[in-house]
Amino acid sequence: MTAEARPQIAIIGAGVIGSALAMALAERGAKGVVVYDPDLEGSLSSSELNAGGVRATFHQPLNVLCSKLSIDYFAAHAAEVGYRACGYLWMVDAAGMARFEDSEATWRSAGWPTEAWDVAKLSAYAPFIDKTDDLAGAVFGPRDGLLNPNLLKLHFRERAKAAGATFVDRLLLRGAKIDGTGVELRFERLSANPTREEKESAYLSLDRVPSPGSVKESPSDSAAVVSAERVVNCAGPWAKAIARILGYDCPAVNVRRQISLFDCRGLDLSPYGMMIDPSGVYFHPEAGYILGGIAERDEPIGQNFRYGGEEFFQEKIWMPLSERSTKFEALRHLNGWGGLYEVSPDESAIIGEVETGAPSGTGRVFESHSYSGHGVMHSYACGVALAERMLDGKSKLLELEPFAGSRFARGHALTETAVI
Ligand SMILES: Cc1cc2nc3c(=O)[nH]c(=O)nc-3n(C[C@H](O)[C@H](O)[C@H](O)COP(=O)(O)OP(=O)(O)OC[C@H]3O[C@@H](n4cnc5c(N)ncnc54)[C@H](O)[C@@H]3O)c2cc1C
Repeated sequence: MTAEARPQIAIIGAGVIGSALAMALAERGAKGVVVYDPDLEGSLSSSELNAGGVRATFHQPLNVLCSKLSIDYFAAHAAEVGYRACGYLWMVDAAGMARFEDSEATWRSAGWPTEAWDVAKLSAYAPFIDKTDDLAGAVFGPRDGLLNPNLLKLHFRERAKAAGATFVDRLLLRGAKIDGTGVELRFERLSANPTREEKESAYLSLDRVPSPGSVKESPSDSAAVVSAERVVNCAGPWAKAIARILGYDCPAVNVRRQISLFDCRGLDLSPYGMMIDPSGVYFHPEAGYILGGIAERDEPIGQNFRYGGEEFFQEKIWMPLSERSTKFEALRHLNGWGGLYEVSPDESAIIGEVETGAPSGTGRVFESHSYSGHGVMHSYACGVALAERMLDGKSKLLELEPFAGSRFARGHALTETAVI
């Protein structure tokens, strides 16, 4: 067992959310910011396995603002993070058009451009969309678009490190004790090159860690103990398990989302951005191919990275898309993957200080997770806002209070309906 140097702020999880927070804290002068992760490469993290879409067309004004501020930042660093303002095109039936008309005033007052198109305009823009009988038209967000999530995460990390933050690999949080003197964190050290199976089983083992907030497991030689001033739960799909380790309940769940990569011979989608079919299938050009996915609402809760392969593609992707375009009848499946969404009960993120119930724990435990499928597009703004809250007591950038985890008990859900 080793004792590590004392960080002032320990961040658990180095995905796009933990990395953005580390950058924001360090660039605002916070000393001793250390980010811990069992796998800095992040091969099973959501930041690695997502679709790279960024858009501000949400229902909740606060979610619109989080995306708008983040996309402004991505646009200012477009080459570094691979951002392209290639648009989000939502194909909609009459009910879908009515929902979008409800949100139009929100987007206009946030200064976020959108256009409502009839079917003729949709057909002129995307002539290959030739099965339109059920459509009322489309809603287009020209500043929405795509980026490279891996480049974004590395960008946040590089800036964080340049400002003094540290990233520590191979450490999996397994225990914690919080009191008036600080936070004691107990980590298991993973082997140097864990296999995919070892990583999956390390994450699954978190569900078996004793609760709540105890350091009951006997220390082993592979353990590391860290004393910190404050800790932040940025563990994405594993935030619920980390919450239990830190001694509080988190209502979020993780759930599989699958993505397929496929080919459409003779059709070049490269001039287009993200497109969303009313069936829920989304797709965009990806390195000469097409990336498409769907968030199946009846997917069972729990860690599952299995990819359904040809059967998933045929049933969930090919079927609806072949009913949208005669060109799509020729789609050919290549491969795909399963990743995890981290979903809160109202599908908005959970951000802020955790009320642990223990007076001695006040100001010690913070959280930023459960972005419910839109963490990449919110990452920059939410990192800055939480850093301001932690360092200055309040965020100037945006109001964080509505994101507090305590909102569910208070009956103040931030219900987001514009989700994919
Ligand atoms: C298929 C799919 C498509 C998506 N598409 C989009 C999209 O188009 N646009 C968008 O904005 N979002 C999208 N998302 C959601 C987005 O990927 C997530 O919201 C975002 O990546 C969350 O980042 P994170 O840093 O919170 O979590 P993660 O990237 O999962 O990072 C969490 C980190 O915590 C670490 N960790 C876990 N347990 C421990 C522990 N015990 N100790 C220390 N560290 C630990 C993990 O190793 C991991 O690196 C998609 C997600 C999926 C799965």
